[in-house]
Amino acid sequence: MRIVVLAGGIGGARFLRGLKQAAPDADITVIGNTGDDIHLFGLKVCPDLDTVMYTLGGGIHEEQGWGRAGETFAVKEELAAYGVGPEWFGLGDRDVATHIVRTQMLGAGYPLSAVTEALCKRWEPGVRLLPMTDDRVETHVVVDTGEGRKAVHFQEYWVGLRAEPTAHAVVPVGAEQAAPAPGVLEAVAAADVVLFPPSNPVVSIGTILAVPGVREAIADAGVPVVGLSPLIGGAPVRGMADKVLAAIGVESTAAAVAAHYGSGLLDGWLVDASDAEAVPEVERVGIRCRAVPLLMSDTAATAAMARAALELAEEVRA
Ligand code: GDP
Ligand code: CA
Repeated sequence: MRIVVLAGGIGGARFLRGLKQAAPDADITVIGNTGDDIHLFGLKVCPDLDTVMYTLGGGIHEEQGWGRAGETFAVKEELAAYGVGPEWFGLGDRDVATHIVRTQMLGAGYPLSAVTEALCKRWEPGVRLLPMTDDRVETHVVVDTGEGRKAVHFQEYWVGLRAEPTAHAVVPVGAEQAAPAPGVLEAVAAADVVLFPPSNPVVSIGTILAVPGVREAIADAGVPVVGLSPLIGGAPVRGMADKVLAAIGVESTAAAVAAHYGSGLLDGWLVDASDAEAVPEVERVGIRCRAVPLLMSDTAATAAMARAALELAEEVRA
């Protein structure tokens, strides 16, 4: 079975760990979000790709969900001593090595997809990890400041400002001119099923779908497309997805997110067992829906979610 998964960071990575356990023989291709990427201190940082790579490769800081286990912050402290910021970005020493290798390879002319493949030789994530594009795409968020509105980099909004200022728009800058990375469209065309993990619908999955050709390829693949809600009881399980959903005019409910993807894209949708009343609402818009526990409390619980998604895909296929 060939499975294609569109993934952001923590939500995507944790789901993938469960999926690998649920479908050990499957051939899994991950299309990773690169809209969160940022250039810091001359280094190219790809937070979502790294979260997937570290999580599946056993290098993740488990409790935090991002960054390296056993991390130290000497580089960050030394930069701060020089007064060089941003101070809000948690750049760890071990993590810096990844960014140095990536930046060096990009500088030598390798595309991000080749660099990601090279980094994965060390981490052996057990999936094929592809960036959504080799081109530069940067998500910007239009926020209220004291002196009117301005656009800031997604990382500044999310990490630096903790999504506190009201967001009015989310713009994947560069997406319109971007091309899917080599292998992305081919993987979708060859897939038996496409899964949307409980990743952020706006700044993770929404950004991947904004790369021209990706949404169309998924809609036209003629295979079941099944997603899992990142919202439980009308709120994100962690993070601030409700803020960016509000910015694009989507209500923070499992049903509203399904309707936002739409029946043209999505065939099946899983909501949490506590959101069972959303099932008929989702089915009314033409998306098959089931309510099952959606808390990724451990790998076994997450594997059960992945099995439920694959079962729903089989139902859709039949
Ligand atoms: P990010 O790039 O690190 O923000 O990660 P993703 O975009 O992949 O995933 C973020 C989303 O995962 C958030 O909107 C959370 O609500 C969702 N999430 C995190 N943990 C869980 C969980 O245990 N269950 C569900 N259903 N969603 C979760
Ligand atoms: Ca992210």
